[in-house]
Amino acid sequence: MNFSEILSQKSATHHLQSMLKTGRIPPALIFLGPAGCGKYPAAIAFSAALNCTKIPYIEKAKKKTLPKISDDLFSSIEEPEQHELPEEENIPEKLNIPPWESCGKCLSCIQIKNNAHPDIIITGLEDQLEKTGKESANLKIDTMREMIKKAYQKPFISPHKVFIVRDAEKLLPEAQNSLLKTLEDPPEGTIICLLASDKNSLLPTILSRAAIVKFSPLSEEAMKILLKKEGFPSDDLEFFSKNSLGSLDKARKIKIFRDRSRMLNNDRSRIFQFASMLPKDSHKAREETNAFLELMAYRQREIWKNTPGKQHSYAKLIKEVMELRSLTRRNVSSSRILEAALLSSEEAGITIDQLLGE
Ligand SMILES: [Zn+2]
Repeated sequence: MNFSEILSQKSATHHLQSMLKTGRIPPALIFLGPAGCGKYPAAIAFSAALNCTKIPYIEKAKKKTLPKISDDLFSSIEEPEQHELPEEENIPEKLNIPPWESCGKCLSCIQIKNNAHPDIIITGLEDQLEKTGKESANLKIDTMREMIKKAYQKPFISPHKVFIVRDAEKLLPEAQNSLLKTLEDPPEGTIICLLASDKNSLLPTILSRAAIVKFSPLSEEAMKILLKKEGFPSDDLEFFSKNSLGSLDKARKIKIFRDRSRMLNNDRSRIFQFASMLPKDSHKAREETNAFLELMAYRQREIWKNTPGKQHSYAKLIKEVMELRSLTRRNVSSSRILEAALLSSEEAGITIDQLLGE
């Protein structure tokens, strides 16, 4: 992954590349922007450029080494494989690539491509679930403590040790507090990138210690290209790129809603059936309800704009949906909220199918 592959994020990539150009790299960065807008690929491109040696790697026969038993309790990273250095006369020349881009050919770049770079450590909800076996809606203090311990170990092969924290908006306050000391006085060569979709979820003490790199929602054109890559059918690209508000995550969620709606009975029970398909986990159900109501309000507004005769009833409906959306932040059953919103919508003449562009 390099910067030329990042679509529709000119300002953010320019900001990151200017840091690489000047060599003034802040030890803590916050990548701020909607979920699924390219923050993660940009963090990878940034880490790649940062650690790129621009010297093409030539693989030689691997040395046979016995597996080493780690004596470091906290290290879950295996040491890089031992490779023989090329003969002196065969050492390749440094590529003529500027510091703000990666070459894709050196050992560091190859390891990043293979998700196996020992000095680029990625954490987030998925990683936390894998390690603990417990599903959680938040990033916990233990996950951050484990990361901090690694931050104080020396890099294995590269000058910079980069930590990429996905879902940083889900960091619990105590987990954020545990990061403060490391953000303020980081070990040399350590760079921490927090990837967050909501600035308000981060403590002011975190915000004040990091450089903020702002990402925008993806353009419709970029959405179409990326959705096509993900396997969305060509006929659907227009609908999804228009209604996902520049977020691949939203597009994926809408796709799930649409798949569910295709399984519904064709009768009055469909609303209740649809609401009963929300996840059992209350946090996830709340998130999904919120995402669906956001889509509803957007779709209803579009329909309202294009239907001059019924504007009064649509305006009332949109207001109702917005009020229901505010309830998702309180302790109210998500399926009840979703049912109420869908009933109001159908009463105003907008069905689930219309909301989902069917
Ligand atoms: Zn490289």
